[in-house]
Amino acid sequence: MKIDQIILTHVRVPLTEPFKISNGEITEKDAILVGVHSEGLVGYGESSPMSGAFYSEETPESTWDCLVGELIPRILRSHPANVEEVNRLLDSVAGNAFAKAGIETAFWDLAAQKEGVPLYRHLGGKRNSVESGLAMGIVPSIKYLLQSIEQHLDEGYKRLKIKIQPGWDIKPLAEIRNKFGSIQLMVDANCAYTQADLPHLKALDDFDLMMIEQPLPKDDLEGHAKLQAISRTPVCLDESAKDVPTVQKAIALKSCKIVNIKIQRVGGLLNAKRIHDLCAEAGIPVWGGTMPELGIGGAQTVHMATLDNFTYPTDVESSKRWFVEDIIDPLIEVHDGMITLPAGNGNGYSLNTRVIARYKVREQHFR
Ligand SMILES: [Mg+2]
Repeated sequence: MKIDQIILTHVRVPLTEPFKISNGEITEKDAILVGVHSEGLVGYGESSPMSGAFYSEETPESTWDCLVGELIPRILRSHPANVEEVNRLLDSVAGNAFAKAGIETAFWDLAAQKEGVPLYRHLGGKRNSVESGLAMGIVPSIKYLLQSIEQHLDEGYKRLKIKIQPGWDIKPLAEIRNKFGSIQLMVDANCAYTQADLPHLKALDDFDLMMIEQPLPKDDLEGHAKLQAISRTPVCLDESAKDVPTVQKAIALKSCKIVNIKIQRVGGLLNAKRIHDLCAEAGIPVWGGTMPELGIGGAQTVHMATLDNFTYPTDVESSKRWFVEDIIDPLIEVHDGMITLPAGNGNGYSLNTRVIARYKVREQHFR
């Protein structure tokens, strides 16, 4: 296809409250918006690493450099015909999954627009709405946690996830069960425990959790298998599930019963679909995680989560949950715990140029 122009826009939007997990904290959301202009249409993607590199090695700066120095020149030299060709070009650069996700997903948006269908239909999804779950970071006190959950549950979220770490697990879970009864509840440790903690993690069975997400370091598939063998609670892999071969290995080792698929972590929608298909074949249900991304990335996850094997609520929440303002129009909204995609071809959400102008850090055009 003919590519007329690619535009990168780095934005930084303040969060409504600090987003704190076991290994870091952010108060502003950085994202690099990727606009691919082709034959009168524009496809949008989002590269969305956290600043400070506490979830992945990638930062907004390294992602920008990779897009500018490596990925965009390859794309502009080759004019790829479809997303498979885009992926082959991107695969010739090592690592940099977040940078790849931004440009790759822009081509999916374009492809759906060219076909004249919403992105979820182009991906193979059959429904236009998905269940959404509420996620709570690590917060200063139990009192704050309970108040905040109560306030956000008004939107009808279908389950509650809390971030945990050593010293912040049993107590908040006990208090949540005490106050909110049999609410659908899960935890995410972001790799904060070790194999020495297996007996402690097994004790979380008492709380009837939907799943325990990524309790151990990302390379410790064997440790996750040991935990899954002794624990009634399903183990869900997130940081570990970085590509198809690793997920294949995790399934063979019985390291998990559930997988969290993040478009950013796996470098785009084609890899995400491949992991979805692999898990479906193995009888492993999946769900769509988020960093969280701003609206373009969040919406892409909602589109992806319409595929059949996405059986648990997505982490994508309403735009106003984390962001002072979001860069899309309309905003992502949760009603009765559901996010419904707007009608329209491709992503279906437009960019809000007024909001982007307010939070723009830098912009660069490539031809
Ligand atoms: Mg996670």
